[in-house]
Amino acid sequence: MLLVLTPTITPAERSAVDEAIRGAGCTIAETHTRRGMLLVVDGDLDRVRQVPLAVFPGVRKVIGLSKPYALSSLEHQAEQTVVAVGNTRVGGGSFAVMAGPCAIEDHATLLAIATQVRDAGGNLLRGGAYKPRTSPYSFRGLGLDGLLMLRDVGLEVGLPVVSEITDPRHIEACISNLDMLQIGTRNMSNFDLLVEVGKSGHPVLLKRGRSATIADWLNAAEYILAQGNPNVVLCERGIRGFDTATRNTLDLAAVPAVRAQSHLPIIVDPSHATGRSSFVAPLARAACAAGADGAMIEVHTDPTRARSDAEQAMLPVDFRDLLDDLRLIHKVCHRAVDA
Ligand code: PEP
Ligand code: MN
Repeated sequence: MLLVLTPTITPAERSAVDEAIRGAGCTIAETHTRRGMLLVVDGDLDRVRQVPLAVFPGVRKVIGLSKPYALSSLEHQAEQTVVAVGNTRVGGGSFAVMAGPCAIEDHATLLAIATQVRDAGGNLLRGGAYKPRTSPYSFRGLGLDGLLMLRDVGLEVGLPVVSEITDPRHIEACISNLDMLQIGTRNMSNFDLLVEVGKSGHPVLLKRGRSATIADWLNAAEYILAQGNPNVVLCERGIRGFDTATRNTLDLAAVPAVRAQSHLPIIVDPSHATGRSSFVAPLARAACAAGADGAMIEVHTDPTRARSDAEQAMLPVDFRDLLDDLRLIHKVCHRAVDA
């Protein structure tokens, strides 16, 4: 349950509200949002519903939520969130494409890829500096040097930049060099990291954990939103299935399923979902048709020299064709929605 308080609530009125809620065996979490102060009430909701909280002085509205993740819900906010990332926007009817190499390798390669991404019409440049790898012997990224390279190349080509943060200790370096912080699949449930990116107020791309339900994922988003950071974009990147024909199983149904209950923008990553470059375009097109707000795609000018995820890297020429297709699909599907 969610309580929207008036900005003029007095300490005495606030105490009365708190006492009534706690007296009904519930807990209170306080959060500040664009709409003012909110109380998220959890616990024995059947009991607290017996208390006429809506008529307490200082309470503007009571939202009786059916789910524990309150702030991401449509019951809390009916209009879709639009997240501004540098000179681009994610959500609200456009289709944002984030593209670049899996890992940042060197300045010249990154600049060559970034130029192709921009010229094809990409909106954000991606590149991993802190790489979580399955094997400890794999290339784990250039760290801070990579972040600085990404920032410089982003400025050079005029694209905002997104990269993964893996450790709360990197928050300062990431905030000062990135336009958007990515939480990878392996860290979706790293709650200390979620709180840290929440406190930063910076735009966050929250990937779905590979074994996470949609409810788990929205609860993870809630950790960020509850810190007063509304700038969250979700990213479906495939979940663990039983089939080894693709790297993961892309859950495209997550797009309408999230839409049905949340105002947060959602994009799709067909690169990590499939692990095969030739499967990326068909699934990116499907994601666009399914109503996603964008896609994240790995691109490399020379996949034979890529230091990670070489098999799923698209060549710039194929990426350009894909973006042409996406523009057409988006136009058609968007028109159909508006009709
Ligand atoms: C990535 O985008 O580079 C990445 C590691 O993705 P994921 O967390 O989805 O595996
Ligand atoms: Mn990758």
